[in-house]
Amino acid sequence: MAVETRPAEAPGRVLSTLNVDGSRRWIRPRPSPGAGWRRRRVLAYVLMFVFFVIPYLELNGRPLILLDLPAREFSLFGTTFLPTDTLLFMLLFVSTGIGIFLLTTLYGRVWCGWGCPQTVYMEFLFRPIERLLEGGFRGSTRLDRHGAFAGRRPLKYAIYLLLSSFLAHTFLAYFVGIHQLVHWVRGTPGNHPAAFLIMAGTTLAIFIDFTWFREQTCLVACPYGRLQSVLFDRRTLIVAYDPRRGEPRMKGTRPRPAGAGDCIACGMCVRTCPTGIDIRDGLQMECVHCTQCIDACDEIMVKIGQKPGLIRYTNPDELAGLPHRLLRTRVLLYPVALAISLGLFVFFLTSRAATEVTLLRGIGAPYQMDGERVVNQVRLKFSNRNRDERGYHVTLVGVPDAQLVNPLDPFPVPGGHTLTTTVFVLSPRSAFDDGTRHVMFRVEDGHGFGRNYVHPLIGPQDAGHGRARGPETEAEARH
Ligand code: SF4
Ligand code: SF4
Repeated sequence: MAVETRPAEAPGRVLSTLNVDGSRRWIRPRPSPGAGWRRRRVLAYVLMFVFFVIPYLELNGRPLILLDLPAREFSLFGTTFLPTDTLLFMLLFVSTGIGIFLLTTLYGRVWCGWGCPQTVYMEFLFRPIERLLEGGFRGSTRLDRHGAFAGRRPLKYAIYLLLSSFLAHTFLAYFVGIHQLVHWVRGTPGNHPAAFLIMAGTTLAIFIDFTWFREQTCLVACPYGRLQSVLFDRRTLIVAYDPRRGEPRMKGTRPRPAGAGDCIACGMCVRTCPTGIDIRDGLQMECVHCTQCIDACDEIMVKIGQKPGLIRYTNPDELAGLPHRLLRTRVLLYPVALAISLGLFVFFLTSRAATEVTLLRGIGAPYQMDGERVVNQVRLKFSNRNRDERGYHVTLVGVPDAQLVNPLDPFPVPGGHTLTTTVFVLSPRSAFDDGTRHVMFRVEDGHGFGRNYVHPLIGPQDAGHGRARGPETEAEARH
């Protein structure tokens, strides 16, 4: 006898975006255009504008922000960071982390609700387009897949794809610079296949995120969302429902049932929530503090003649009727740690050398023979952190038997740039000791910069007996 099997169902909803049968519960929040929403909208469009315009801005002749990964060179607000600036990066990273800790301890998930690109673009760009084209949002929390506006869905997807492509291009401009990006866009994908694939992948990821994944990014993917619980304390600012005022919730407004709290169980705070939760259940990880439930409930409170603020920005102590104390241990310690970390960052940043020279072996064979002379190729990488161009003059010190062939002397490097040149050193075979000889380069820029750099040359293993090996230290070179 055939036994009918049905998928197991949960006794109730486990997650706000999951139906009891395990299928996705699509969230279509009803917008609540109150004071919080209006302020967030202004901030959202300012942030979008800033994001779009930054790749076009320059400071000190460098892009305002350029994260040049292949060159391992970051330009941030007129300052260039090189791979050797590891300590600065670490301090910047630590300062950012402490800053996030402090912000979250004081103001909760203010970043999630007001500044995070996921929220900003979802709620103020993609979702408004969806509402405009597909309609059916008034009072509905379900996607209108078969409604009168369903035929416009392909148009919505086309616009989403265009926007995703635009966002992906802007995002890429932060890594390659706007001029390179324009050059690629004007060319054909075949000329730059890797860049094209990165662009296509980023476009697809953004499209999928805002079309399908949506609030799941905040609920399951974002590590910051998961970190919240350890950063909150009982005086952290949160969006919360006041149960002492709202309970017992009861329907009916005229007249209000005797003994009823202020909550009329209208459900508007749930219908407006972009993550589908009920704020009356208390603080939940899914709450991104977008303030939409505040706006929705305030509107209801005004309508029924009650004071707004049943759902409001508050903290757990205030909700429990305890006195409000702003200062507590972590709120005192975080700023101290932040000041130390930022102070060290500024100190090392301002005491950094304006010129940095790195000597590298040549590409290909370690050396070549020119009769009885050994030819070494040496690459010199100049990082000029000055504002103006510098011409770097390179000489050899203390090795009269060696000859330097420098195709471009002085080697010009524009301010804020890093360039590499190749020079050749010709040494007698007899000058090598066990296949190695140390020589000293001197680099000067004619503006007061001058430093010596010891560099090992490679030669045949059987060559020389160290008779004219050359200086191994700067002190040796001076004698
Ligand atoms: S919007 Fe306000 S009144 Fe309506 S259910 Fe939510 S908390 Fe209660
Ligand atoms: S509970 Fe309120 S503040 Fe939290 S995500 Fe939902 S609507 Fe936004």
